[in-house]
Amino acid sequence: MERDELVARLAEWVADRGVVVLSGAGLSTESGIPDYRGPSGAARRHTPMTYQAFTRDPVARRRYWARSHLGWRTIGGARPNAGHRAVARLQELAVVDGIITQNVDGLHQAGGAHGVVELHGNLARIACLDCGATSGRQELIERLDAANPGFAAAVTAVNPDGDVELDDAELDGFVVVGCAGCGGMLKPDVVYFGETVPPDRVSRSFDLVARARTLLVLGSSLTVMSGRRFVLRAAKEGIRVAIVNQGATRGEPYAGLMVDAALGAVLPELVRRVEAISPVAGR
Ligand SMILES: [Zn+2]
Repeated sequence: MERDELVARLAEWVADRGVVVLSGAGLSTESGIPDYRGPSGAARRHTPMTYQAFTRDPVARRRYWARSHLGWRTIGGARPNAGHRAVARLQELAVVDGIITQNVDGLHQAGGAHGVVELHGNLARIACLDCGATSGRQELIERLDAANPGFAAAVTAVNPDGDVELDDAELDGFVVVGCAGCGGMLKPDVVYFGETVPPDRVSRSFDLVARARTLLVLGSSLTVMSGRRFVLRAAKEGIRVAIVNQGATRGEPYAGLMVDAALGAVLPELVRRVEAISPVAGR
């Protein structure tokens, strides 16, 4: 099938309502956040931080915060793209009932969506591992800037989880700060490798999928089970699965409809077609 025909078919599925979106890194690449598994992504030059390394190794933790402090200038400055705005519009049109994202960049909400289940958390939120208090990234940025006057290092690359590539020697002088309330250990409120997704987020997501007529996967290669399990569940329950992704995806055996294309182009077109099918909805 030609792409136009695929998008037209997808618009019929979406206009039928009851859509739950599952989004991944591919939705944010057009906002300048690299997708290290997608076609435009470069291989990572260092292994991702694990929960074990972060909590047990003070040197690894200091290096993480130094990279993350600088990397935030890119991640925190990213803006939603046409794909995020299209998803928010589909929610406004009441054809999308739920949004589950594997992204930690908050760009769905910045693009106007609400009620988003952030499976892997959000980099803009900081959590204290000792007292459980959460705070905003900006507050931490200011405290880290104050604790590290003149800290300046070359930013050479940014990874999706907010790391920056720097020599270890440049990182080891970085001063880490503790929780403003209790002095405890701070960590970005995101799920690291070696950590499990909090059970309430998983069950909320399964509930959304169970009530869906269509599970619409956007920009995910479904490499990790934390996202793929929802596709497996949908397929098992006889719920339609549609995938829009640039490049190969492990969801292909379960998808009734696949569009291999850039999301920033396809999703606005999808919105136009859905509006043409249901012209009254959301107006
Ligand atoms: Zn605390």
